[in-house]
Amino acid sequence: MTIISSQAAQIAEQVEQFVRNVVIPYEQDDRRDAHGPSDALAKELREKAREAGVLVPHIREDGSHFSHVETALILRKSGLSPLGPIACHVMAPDEGNMYLLGKVGTDELKQRFLAPLVSGDARSAFFMTEPAEDGGAGSDPSLMQTTCKRDGNHWVINGRKAFITGAEGASVGIVMAKSEEADSEGGACMFLVDLPDPAIRIERVLDTIDSSMPGGHAVIAIDNLRVAADQMLGEAGEGFKYAQVRLAPARLTHCMRWLGLAERAQELATDYACKRMAFGKPLIDHEGVGFMLAQNKIDIQACTLMIDWCAGVLDSGALGTTESSMAKTFVAETLFQIADRCVQAMGGTGVTGDTVVEQLFREVRAFRIYDGPTEVHKWSLAKKIKREWREAQD
Ligand SMILES: Cc1cc2nc3c(=O)[nH]c(=O)nc-3n(C[C@H](O)[C@H](O)[C@H](O)COP(=O)(O)OP(=O)(O)OC[C@H]3O[C@@H](n4cnc5c(N)ncnc54)[C@H](O)[C@@H]3O)c2cc1C
Repeated sequence: MTIISSQAAQIAEQVEQFVRNVVIPYEQDDRRDAHGPSDALAKELREKAREAGVLVPHIREDGSHFSHVETALILRKSGLSPLGPIACHVMAPDEGNMYLLGKVGTDELKQRFLAPLVSGDARSAFFMTEPAEDGGAGSDPSLMQTTCKRDGNHWVINGRKAFITGAEGASVGIVMAKSEEADSEGGACMFLVDLPDPAIRIERVLDTIDSSMPGGHAVIAIDNLRVAADQMLGEAGEGFKYAQVRLAPARLTHCMRWLGLAERAQELATDYACKRMAFGKPLIDHEGVGFMLAQNKIDIQACTLMIDWCAGVLDSGALGTTESSMAKTFVAETLFQIADRCVQAMGGTGVTGDTVVEQLFREVRAFRIYDGPTEVHKWSLAKKIKREWREAQD
């Protein structure tokens, strides 16, 4: 059963009012480039959120998190504008990085790296994926080629990374590398690093289909990066396990934010279809359009239920790997169909930058790939189904 405390419901309401009244007018602000809003715009929005009391709204003042189910409601409201999660500082990769640090970090690491994130004074990046041309980690993280080796009280990291969201402009990085040490060989390690660092060089920022994340997505070269041993997150060799701790909730919070934007797109498409006349009546009275909006309404409800179900599983203390795979796959694929129908219902206007409908379409196209491509989630589910079938035969 979905349980939302009155405090969480009130915060969600505040976030919605803030996004509708303060953030949406910024959607036409031209302080942005091909990769997303500029840092100056993001900073101004975060200040507005701070004033409105909705900065990092899913974490209470005492540092404790609202439940995942409550977070779903709050983050959906933040997603009503693509700028909402940036204003409220609950955008990827920061939100997932904060979660991981909160779960695995020592008090010292939290003080140094988490506190500036929670206060909205810093941005962060998560360095896992590697360039396909190097044969590095992608869908299959075990292909990781970035290495780390002990050197006295330090670790030395070398390798290349790709698609690193927000690396340009971030001041905190979580870097993953494969250990070359005998006691943790082949296992991954995670390190917290201050950015920028001369040993972490941005080769280029990729030209990608999406445009919501400040800093865009970068290809990075890491040359002899020296990190103090006490900046390792958790234990040596356990990095892939921690990646799972981060990935399940992070996948789900992406679903929450993009669902919020899909709800807004549906509002815009509905408004268009109810006002726009064609062949003697409003578009919505033509079945071809009315049925698209009806299907969207059904699908939005289905996504909401899927997210709440998975959030409930995480709230029970389970890792939720399978459930978040199912939810992420369903929501990413369904949101893409919702976005496509909103574009179609709005005709030419749907493919212009005049509304956020066009942006939703581009964003969810990328979402079908990051946080695990749909096929990878289905492939791992199929393996589980086979395993369960085998066990049932014994
Ligand atoms: C916008 C964006 C932001 C990102 N941000 C970050 C970030 O901040 N940090 C980070 O570390 N990474 C990030 N990524 C990287 C993302 O996690 C990877 O793109 C993703 O894991 C897929 O890896 P790949 O691109 O190398 O695809 P590949 O591994 O080359 O896979 C290509 C395709 O092959 C198919 N495929 C792969 N395996 C299977 C299988 N077992 N069965 C069936 N089909 C399969 C899938 O269709 C997949 O799309 C981001 C990516 C994007 C697009």
